[in-house]
Amino acid sequence: MNFLDKIEIKGKKLLVRVDYNVPLKDGVIQDDHRIRASLDTLNYALDQGAALIICSHLGRPTDKREPEFSLKPAAVRLSELLGREVKMASDCIGSEVRATVQALAPGQVLMLENLRYHAGEKANDPEFSKQLAALADVYVNDAFAVAHRAHASVVGVTEFAPASCGGFLLKKEWAFLGQSLADPEWPYVAISGGAKISTKMDILNALLDKADEIIIGGAMANTFILAIGNSVGRSLVEKQRVSDAAALLEKASQKGVKIHLPTDLTLGQGIDSPASSGVCRFDAIPEDSMALDIGPETIAQFKTVLTHAKTVMWNGPMGAFENPAYAQGSLELARIVAGLDHALTIVGGGDTNVVIKAESLSDKFSFISTGGGSFMSFMEGKELPAFKALKEGTK
Ligand code: ADP
Ligand code: MG
Repeated sequence: MNFLDKIEIKGKKLLVRVDYNVPLKDGVIQDDHRIRASLDTLNYALDQGAALIICSHLGRPTDKREPEFSLKPAAVRLSELLGREVKMASDCIGSEVRATVQALAPGQVLMLENLRYHAGEKANDPEFSKQLAALADVYVNDAFAVAHRAHASVVGVTEFAPASCGGFLLKKEWAFLGQSLADPEWPYVAISGGAKISTKMDILNALLDKADEIIIGGAMANTFILAIGNSVGRSLVEKQRVSDAAALLEKASQKGVKIHLPTDLTLGQGIDSPASSGVCRFDAIPEDSMALDIGPETIAQFKTVLTHAKTVMWNGPMGAFENPAYAQGSLELARIVAGLDHALTIVGGGDTNVVIKAESLSDKFSFISTGGGSFMSFMEGKELPAFKALKEGTK
């Protein structure tokens, strides 16, 4: 697969697929980190003397051109961050856009309008893909967040673009998830938590081939506690996944992968109940209670497991952290992983990110993935459509 630094781009027009799916409120961007994340790629390309045509989706517009999904606010913010003008196109394909692109000189930046104003984007329509590809000399994918989507601006476009490559954000994700975690330095300890139990069961299965030890917390752990013959009271659990959990434990023991489950849990009456109702052992969860966080003994136990790790991958909070009464386990774990100075530490997942940000620990990890669904797919061991398309487009 090619990345931007391997391609001659001086004087060329680049179609750069970014992820500017930013949160907006009354037309104001609430968080611009996705725009900032693209700056390395964009500044490099501008320094090299390329002209940039930037494209992204934003939200989920219907086939009508709903103005609240316009990328105009992103263009304004990008212009501030780049310190140069960013022209806003009226659409992402069509004769008017073609004319604007034609006139684009090196060093100039044009932002195309929301790709999802056209049904062809999500349908990976060849005609739409062709029109996008025709705008530029080189297609650059720097949108890892949509790398698991077979959409026109991610996949179809590579069939028609004269040349295709990944940008620097994509390269970083590839290096950490595709290389560091594919061939990890041992011991490799993976931490799995959160609530998307079905999806994450597939990740756990894939991890059995890579990790030396796996820590399981959050609502994920409840399914396992049930699988080893205990009651979990009213805790969040996926009953139809209990046999899978049992099978996974069996497979782990055959492969010599150690699985660490919580030994104590913090209880509550509900996710919103303002105070916890104490701590219990994993085999003594009362029938009328919910396990909403890992307990203090478990935190200490997980810390010991992590101390000697050389590689750590963490996805999923240890409890219902949105409520301060059940946030302790996740916050402590964030501090513990952040403090592992001699390990490569990789984090992924939307909610896990929220935990890290809340503790201002973002710069204490080796790498934080920008993907949600794409991170999950990658961890499940699936080949992402974006990477497949770039590889095939490279030929
Ligand atoms: P990520 O986005 O990092 O991949 P998930 O979306 O899988 O993580 O899980 C995060 C959610 O899991 C949070 O909303 C949190 O409240 C919930 N959660 C974690 N542990 C528990 C628990 N024991 N009981 C109920 N909800 C939990
Ligand atoms: Mg989540």
